[in-house]
Order: sequence, then structure tokens, then C-alpha cells
Amino acid sequence: LDAPLYADLAGDLNVSFEFFPPKTEKMEEQLWSAIETLTPLAPKFVSVTYGAGGSTRERTHNTVARIAKETPLSAAAHLTCVAASKAEIDEVVDAYWEAGVRHIVALRGDPPEAGCKFEPHPEGYQGAAELVEGLRKRHPFEISVAAYPETHPDALNAQSDIDNLKRKLDAGASRAITQFFFEPDTFFRFRDTVAAAGIDAEIIPGIMPVSNFAAVQRMSAMCNTDVPGWMGKLFEGLDDLPAARQLVSATLAAELCRKLYAGGVRDFHFYTLNRAELSYAICHLLGLRPQVAAMA
Ligand code: FAD
Repeated sequence: LDAPLYADLAGDLNVSFEFFPPKTEKMEEQLWSAIETLTPLAPKFVSVTYGAGGSTRERTHNTVARIAKETPLSAAAHLTCVAASKAEIDEVVDAYWEAGVRHIVALRGDPPEAGCKFEPHPEGYQGAAELVEGLRKRHPFEISVAAYPETHPDALNAQSDIDNLKRKLDAGASRAITQFFFEPDTFFRFRDTVAAAGIDAEIIPGIMPVSNFAAVQRMSAMCNTDVPGWMGKLFEGLDDLPAARQLVSATLAAELCRKLYAGGVRDFHFYTLNRAELSYAICHLLGLRPQVAAMA
């Protein structure tokens, strides 16, 4: 695939940025500084994750509500089914609706202890497809769901995972955001399979700029993402050189995006890990420039 040069990329992109809710005051400052830096790129939306087991219920709510209130951004709240009855989820989503939040990223979630099997709450939702249905009945939210180019680890097989994605979209979600992946062909193959299954909703690649290779290796093992051998090689010897690591990281993520762009992708979702620079630099290389005045 012939990818265009960076200088020829027109910035005709839709981007979205994902953040996690901060735990401490210092992390809160870092998050808000990241939001300030990224706001001028006019993301289509920004989203805030929901901690394992619903552990960040308050913090996610407060962060999303503050973004909705204090910035021009469209804020989306992640929400999971873990350890919550349908009535509790209704309470959470009613509060979002009241706070002016109109977009939910609906997920099943994982149990709080890594490696354990998901057990639905006795009064709760079995999975994301049911959650989407429940949300649609409650309020006319815009809903995004998760998709897995390398198949979700709990899936019976790849086809059943695609069937599940179709159920989520048929239940009322309007787009899917993918788990991170590192080879463009992984995404292109998935896009073809999804299209062959009759799914025509937007499938947005989730881009993870890798600044901590060891952490990404651990995460990838848990979520079935292949870490190519060449990537390990490129991070070798950089453990004590954080700035060099950042440069390598930005280069790899930008190359992935450039190849995705060459394959027709125009929507990108960035896992920012609450740091703006990597995502900003990649968007810049793709030709995106500030579109709205920076926040005061
Ligand atoms: P589901 O779509 O419900 O699927 C779960 C598994 O069950 C899949 O293997 C599916 O194939 C299988 N399945 C479902 N229904 C059936 C059926 N009828 N028959 C057979 N198999 C079935 N986690 C968090 O805790 N907080 C977050 O904020 C968060 N944000 C995320 C954002 C994105 C973009 C992504 C990709 C993931 C995110 N996750 C988050 C992780 C997610 O919660 C986990 O991957 C979780 O294990 C699955 O969630 P899901 O919504 O994809 O589940």
C-alpha cells in the first residue's frame, strides 16, 4: 500500500480522545492540561473511562460533567455492566442525562480482579448488547461500543464475536471503537470481515501510542493484542531514555495512522493516557491543525 507523505496529508480527519478519570490533584492538573492542549484540534468527542468494577463511578461522572459544562467539547462517558443492577445503571445514566451528557460508550467491562471470569450481577445486564438496549429505552443517547480486530478473549470464536458486535449495533449503537492493535492489516482485515457480515456502522481504530513498552506488553497479553516482534526490537535499549522512547512511540503510532489513512481511514480514536503531546504530534503529522481558539 502506497502511503502518502506526511506533507501531503490534508488533515481531513475526525479524531476523538480518550482519558481516564484522575485519582489525585496532580493527575487532575495533568488531565486538564491535556484537555486544554487537545481542544483546539476540535475532536468529534472526548471520552472518559470507567474503572474496573465501577470503581470510578463518581470520578468518571465528575470529569465528564465538568468537560460538558466547561469546554466546547462533546463529552462521552464510558459505562460498564460490572457489579451493578439495572436500577443502579438507570441512576447513573439519569444523572448523565441531567448533566447534559448525550453520549455513552457502552461496555460489559471486566471483573475488578484481573484474570477472573465476568459474572453478571443477578439483577444486571449480561453484556454490552443488553446494556445498549437498556440505555436506548431510558434516553435517546448516542452510543458507541467496543470492537476487537483480534477477537475478544472471551469469545467462542471470531465469528461469534462479530455476531455480538452486530447485536450491539442493531440494539442502537451508532459506532464501534476498536481495541488497540499495531499492524494496519489487522484493522483492514477486520474492516472487511465486518463489512461482509453486513455491518455498515463506523468502525473507528483505537490508537495506542506506546510510551511504556513493558506496560503495553502486559495489557496486550490480557486483551489478545499481538505485539509484533519488530516492535520489541525498536524499544530495546530505551528503558532509561524516556524522551527517545517518546519519539520512537510517536513515530510508530504516526506510521500506523499514515498507513490506515492510505487505506481510507478518516476517523481515529486516541488512547491518550491523559497525556496530550503524543496524540497531538500524531494528529499534527496527519495534517490536522488547530480549528478553534484554545480554551481561555
Ligand atoms: P461484550 O460486547 O458484552 O462482549 C463480551 C464477550 O462476550 C465477547 O467475547 C463476546 O464475543 C461475548 N459474547 C457476548 N454476547 C454473547 C453471546 N450471546 N454469545 C456468545 N458470546 C457472547 N473496560 C472498562 O472497565 N472500562 C472502560 O472504560 C473501558 N473502555 C473501553 C473502551 C474501548 C474502546 C474498548 C475496546 C474496551 C474498553 N474496555 C473498558 C474493556 C472492555 O470492558 C472489555 O474488553 C470487556 O471484557 C468486554 O467488554 P465489551 O463491551 O466488548 O463486551
